[in-house]
Amino acid sequence: MFESLSDRLQGVFANLRGKGRLTEADINDAMRQIRLALLEADVNFKVVRDFVSAASARCMESEVLDSLTPAQNVVKVVLDELTRLLGEVNEGLGLSPNRVPNVIMLVGLQGSGKTTAAAKLAYLLKSQGRRPQLVACDVYRPAAADQLETLGGEVGVAVYRAPGTDPVAIARAGVQEAIDNLRDVVIVDTAGRLHVDDDMMAEAQGLKEAVEPDQILMVVDAMTGQDVVNVAAAFAERVDFDGVIMSKMDGDARGGGALSVRQATGKPIKFISSGERPDSLEAFHPDRMARRILGMGDVVSLIESAVKVQAEEEEQEAAERLAKADLTLNDFLDMNRQIRKMGGVSKLISALPGGDKALASGQVDEGALDHMEVIISSMTKAERSKPDLINGSRRARIAAGAGVTVTEVNQLMKRYAETRKMVKRMMPALDAPAKGKKGK
Ligand code: GDP
Repeated sequence: MFESLSDRLQGVFANLRGKGRLTEADINDAMRQIRLALLEADVNFKVVRDFVSAASARCMESEVLDSLTPAQNVVKVVLDELTRLLGEVNEGLGLSPNRVPNVIMLVGLQGSGKTTAAAKLAYLLKSQGRRPQLVACDVYRPAAADQLETLGGEVGVAVYRAPGTDPVAIARAGVQEAIDNLRDVVIVDTAGRLHVDDDMMAEAQGLKEAVEPDQILMVVDAMTGQDVVNVAAAFAERVDFDGVIMSKMDGDARGGGALSVRQATGKPIKFISSGERPDSLEAFHPDRMARRILGMGDVVSLIESAVKVQAEEEEQEAAERLAKADLTLNDFLDMNRQIRKMGGVSKLISALPGGDKALASGQVDEGALDHMEVIISSMTKAERSKPDLINGSRRARIAAGAGVTVTEVNQLMKRYAETRKMVKRMMPALDAPAKGKKGK
């Protein structure tokens, strides 16, 4: 996802960096290339037009052109505009605190990933301490209810289904089932169609009136590209919705849908799903996604998924370390151990700056993690928390203890130092406003 757009944009920036001082012609040229890259990524043309015009205007400000680091400022402008395009901040799910049970209704075309998203959302809410109830309202495809039942079973969430052809009656009974069993959030999976059609819209409208959802979320397959604008407009007109779940972000979609939907509909992407496993739904953070697209990695999400599987106390420690933007070798070792639980090395690497390229070029050595574990295990507690202690003679001792060569210990220390430096560099640097940026 976003791979080719990411490559193109990085190419534009590399070109600018090579130039030192920038002229208006350089900016125009860069903006033309950015425009093409976005169009090729299947971003809606109106969205592209507005994006390029806003970014150009800001880049032409004298503070950007005349600064000592114009290329970096251009990158920062594009990062800001991309973040804005994606919706600025995560808007949260938006359930009323005064209502029990809350009701969430999922709509979307058939095959968009609605049923799996329902189960993933139930899993996510359950892991946050909620007591969800799934309700299967697709009366046309019994297989959809079967699928929801299976997925519900996998994530340990009750599924309500009933025979009959009236989805409204089933939805009402599903909400009642939740009330009777003291469940506090109901997730209604509705029927989709292959294309936008009147019957589907009328049915969704009827369900909306019957169960008055706190949130209606439209599920969109990331592969839909800019056609998302038409699908969303149809749903917005007939049922309206509050936000988007963008599914299949792990595929090779060019990214046009994700980049167009907010601007074109005014509705935020609230969640993204990037896999078939129940835990592959996560809150969408526009700023992190923008950084990823620009090849700056996604260290914050990475660390979040690492701490997700740790005990609460460890989470607290990790958050504190993150606040200081420093990593000890203990963090490094923990990360290593969590990687297996997080879906493997490849997923982790792809979240790091340049990671997608490393994966593509086969530089990723899956076995390196086992080595790392053995070497770090041979260090003392003090060495792990204060890696600067590790001098030449300590390296020799560690190598002997781990049964590896000193070169391998050096390689590990180098990799650790690079990661530590990257975390330090990324956190504060990106919070600083670009020169020339007008206050918002
Ligand atoms: P529905 O018709 O909208 O309910 O769609 P489903 O939930 O049945 O999903 C359609 C297919 O897409 C299923 O095979 C899912 O396993 C798959 N799918 C859904 N979400 C994702 C995702 O985020 N990543 C991947 N790779 N597959 C997904």
